[in-house]
Amino acid sequence: GADIGSQKDRVVTEEEWLQKWETGNIGFHKEQGHPLLQKYLDVLLKGRSGLRIFFPLCGKAVEMKWLADMGHKVVGVEVSEQALKEFFAEHGLPYCKEPVPEISGAKKLQSTSGNISLYCCSIYDLSSSIAGKFDGVWDRGALVAVNPCDRQRYASLMITLMEKNSSYLLVTVSYDPNKHKGPPFYVPESEIKSLFGNHCEIKCLQKVDDFSDRHRQWGLDYFLEVLYILKFI
Ligand code: SAH
Repeated sequence: GADIGSQKDRVVTEEEWLQKWETGNIGFHKEQGHPLLQKYLDVLLKGRSGLRIFFPLCGKAVEMKWLADMGHKVVGVEVSEQALKEFFAEHGLPYCKEPVPEISGAKKLQSTSGNISLYCCSIYDLSSSIAGKFDGVWDRGALVAVNPCDRQRYASLMITLMEKNSSYLLVTVSYDPNKHKGPPFYVPESEIKSLFGNHCEIKCLQKVDDFSDRHRQWGLDYFLEVLYILKFI
């Protein structure tokens, strides 16, 4: 495979993620939402309404509100309860919280209107028997945040969550992995193919130059976002 430098052994613990939320170290959060989802929304939805859309490792992604407002059912999963509470608070959405009987310690935070259900637990605790299957996925800051040693497990799980005829928009990042330890981690195209290629058709939709001061401070001199569409048959 392609060179991913020393990243293959790097591990970020759940505790470290919780700490990022507690200290407000959340430079990954996009207050205005992601322009690539706006641009490729129709590739995901194909004019259909009332879809079930999954947001793995959702943080407080505002795109969840966009899709719920369009009439879709949104399901997310996130280890940080703080992130999920901030999501509902920042959009002025009332919600209720209940345990998830199948997963010890997990909670489900659900908007009172019922169209946004966010699981507070590790994604590895979810399954299609708990969360159902999905017509669409928005994966931004998710596969690239997964520890490299867990990618296979993550991809296998995601594949089990996909309905027939579903679409999965995947945003990866590309930069010199010898210059920044991640996350986000560099995921080469060859790896996308080996993780998902046996189960779907994969197309690269766009590469965008996303280089900013933040990346310069990481010691990088280029940073790209790469968008793929995975079509499950
Ligand atoms: N997708 C979001 C958040 C990206 S950051 C966005 O685009 O803004 C990655 C998020 O994954 C963090 O909020 C972190 O708390 C969460 N996370 C990390 N490991 C996780 C796991 N195993 N299960 C669920 N959430 C996890």
